[in-house]
Amino acid sequence: MSNYTHYFGAGPAALPLEVKQQIESDINEYQNTGVSILELSHRSDEFFQLLHEARELLRDIYSIPQHYHIVFMAGGATLQFDAVALNLAGNFKYASYLDTGFWSRKAGSLASKYVDIKYVQGLVTDTKQICCIDCSDWHVDSESAYLHITPNETIYGVEFVGVCNTNVPIVADLTSSMLMQNIDVANYGLLYAAAQKSLGIAGLSVVILRDDLLTRVSEKTPDLLRYDLHVEHHSIVNTAPVFACYVTNLMLNWIKQQGGLDVMVQQAQQRSSLLYEAIDANDKFTNNICTNNRSTINVAFDAQDQQVIKQLLNDAESQGLLGLQGHRHAGGIRASMYNGTPIKAVENLAELIRSA
Ligand code: PMP
Repeated sequence: MSNYTHYFGAGPAALPLEVKQQIESDINEYQNTGVSILELSHRSDEFFQLLHEARELLRDIYSIPQHYHIVFMAGGATLQFDAVALNLAGNFKYASYLDTGFWSRKAGSLASKYVDIKYVQGLVTDTKQICCIDCSDWHVDSESAYLHITPNETIYGVEFVGVCNTNVPIVADLTSSMLMQNIDVANYGLLYAAAQKSLGIAGLSVVILRDDLLTRVSEKTPDLLRYDLHVEHHSIVNTAPVFACYVTNLMLNWIKQQGGLDVMVQQAQQRSSLLYEAIDANDKFTNNICTNNRSTINVAFDAQDQQVIKQLLNDAESQGLLGLQGHRHAGGIRASMYNGTPIKAVENLAELIRSA
């Protein structure tokens, strides 16, 4: 294997080198505290300060209005599938879920334990291509507690950006697109993401929610899934996942230093264009997502001849380009390129795709 390696895995995902170097140093000792970041108390002033900094950074980078709360909760996005319904369904008859693929359906199926679900068609399926339906054509029941959407479907690499006005709050699963899409937080009721892709490591979710939605929580909600309790206790309800929060804070600092959201979005477009151009230039490879809905984050593609896929994976590995195997449901190849992905690694991969 070459000396240069880059990991294209879908999550846990590549962290920027600078972030890994800082972690190495803070594992020795965190900010003259005499303890490692791995040992830092969740009740220490340093941790309180760290969470405060992370909240302020996220608010700044995403221009989050003051009437939105930012919460850090243990557990991944699948736990949020339950949390969203338990906290927001209230006494409503239904919740609506835009169906754009695997993750949106999974979110709906877990929520259906607590509230009746209406799926809203989000994809056009009657052509050879997969295309997202424009938000002006979503049919959302106005009696829904909320509309849940998944703007980037990680497995097949389907993405849409932006939403239309609806008369129900929009809840977005940004697990594979947080801080990688230009969105206006004010158009949403709640946004959440597990941290292990664009925001750090596994074990933590970040939730951004509008103040008025806090009152809908069902009394049967476990304490640790209650957004109102996390807001009240500044995300320290019990022993918080200190290390995961710390890495997210490093990532937010890093994103800010790189130039913030616009730079992240522009780099995602640059990286994905390099790959799609290479895929389209080589007729051995296929990608059947509508041009406008090709993910700028997870580029998934396949080939008629599986030998070509096998060979590309081998060649990539020998050049230190790792983690390119497609999802177990999809096969083929998937390059997941979150914020920590350097352009050089993508250029190398594009070259391999062209010459395959
Ligand atoms: N939503 C999306 C869009 C995802 O990509 C994933 C994980 N790949 C999840 C939810 C589930 O996340 P977790 O494994 O943290 O529960």
